[in-house]
Amino acid sequence: MSLSQQELERYSRQIIMNGWGTEGQRKLKNSAAAVVGVGGLGSISSTLLAAAGVGKLVLIDQDKLCLSDLNRQILYSTKDIGQFKVEIAKERLTALNPEVEILAVNKEITVDNVSRVIGKVNIVVDGLDNWKTRFTVNDYCVKSRIPFVHAGVSQFYGQITTVMPSKGPCLRCVFPKEPTETKVNPIFSGTPSALASLQVMEAIKCLTGIGKPLIGRMLFIDGEEMTIETAEITKNQNCPTCSKI
Ligand SMILES: [Zn+2]
Repeated sequence: MSLSQQELERYSRQIIMNGWGTEGQRKLKNSAAAVVGVGGLGSISSTLLAAAGVGKLVLIDQDKLCLSDLNRQILYSTKDIGQFKVEIAKERLTALNPEVEILAVNKEITVDNVSRVIGKVNIVVDGLDNWKTRFTVNDYCVKSRIPFVHAGVSQFYGQITTVMPSKGPCLRCVFPKEPTETKVNPIFSGTPSALASLQVMEAIKCLTGIGKPLIGRMLFIDGEEMTIETAEITKNQNCPTCSKI
């Protein structure tokens, strides 16, 4: 698919970036990305992916908007309380960029439906708030050879890595045991905004082939001390998900 005059103008400031060009922009236009969870992380990553011109976005979330979401889920407004997040997100993102096809999927991801709900996409971006679903998505992505950009946030702390099936470790290699879930995650806007922006950098790089994604590396941000560290992560040879990939 080629780019229209409108699109060339809309994306002009990124098309002139080193290594991006119209070719990179066409790659984005011909790509589909799934954002699983459109809360603190996902409402921001989906906005940035739509603005950048990823051709198709699949937004997956089963929740309705609550008042306590609004301190960080900045895609939504006070008048949206009680509505399904994916429906509002679809409306807002279409208004931001009508060139992007948005599919709103109002479903909870389970082991049984994950392949149908996420479907055939080029990348999956983690906006989840629980490890059970995150591992389900990790397993599906590894099995289907789809890159998966993980991020997790709590308080001033965030972590991010890109699972590139067959090239690096998956989340089960790094977390052999499911981390304990907090019932109510303490969080404010700054942390998910920062991490979601990094996730979109990773996604754009994977889709266009620019740069060096966080494969086999996990980046940790401590916003309280304002330190950023990257640690090498390795594949577990006995990983139940990816050791045979
Ligand atoms: Zn693994």
